[in-house]
Amino acid sequence: MKPTVMIVEDEAALITMLRYNLEKEGYNVTEANDGEEALSVADETPPDAVILDWMLPRMSGIEVCRQLRRKTETRSVPIIMLTARTDETDKVRGLNVGADDYMTKPFSMPELIARVRALLRRAKPSQAKGQISFGDIQLDLDAHKVSRGGKYVHLGPTEFRLLQYLMERPGRVFSREELLNGVWGPDIYVEPRTVDVHIRRLRKALNAEKGADVIRTVRAAGYALDSSGDQAA
Ligand code: CA
Repeated sequence: MKPTVMIVEDEAALITMLRYNLEKEGYNVTEANDGEEALSVADETPPDAVILDWMLPRMSGIEVCRQLRRKTETRSVPIIMLTARTDETDKVRGLNVGADDYMTKPFSMPELIARVRALLRRAKPSQAKGQISFGDIQLDLDAHKVSRGGKYVHLGPTEFRLLQYLMERPGRVFSREELLNGVWGPDIYVEPRTVDVHIRRLRKALNAEKGADVIRTVRAAGYALDSSGDQAA
């Protein structure tokens, strides 16, 4: 079955261009011209990925993102946020709204398509089935769920992949570049700072029940999954 990509954008010309390129890639495309419409379109046809503009009439892209994350069907759908300026991009990151990727307008269409493809690939359940555990953390590849001390931990798709990557290689120190290659994929350009954002979210989610911090920040080197926790930060 074709994956469905929902475009949420109020510029008609941009929608036309996005639709054309996404359909050419073999995706099923749905569209919404404002935030409220986005929520009802997502209800009707749950998307496999969302391209979401920040500046929308009535409801901002950020609010749409928050609302999509609140619904069970779209809780972990990959979302790429489109922003007009870099300072908006910084705000999106800072606000921690739960988008998985960001692109600043004007963007390159091939790059956007590559990122959509990568997000869809990552969102698919892994081929390797089973359970991985590290300390009191359990990662279930079949159910795509994480628990800590028996309690369910909610993670976004990127945090899940990041945790899986680290849990498959416990103790090893990874640079931001290595994590970008391993988790995001070598064909994707993402700023190294993005890794920090997702590590922060992962940490926050894992430590919600006040367990020991298992992600170690190695100054000037990167990150590792380690029971000694983060002494540096
Ligand atoms: Ca707009």
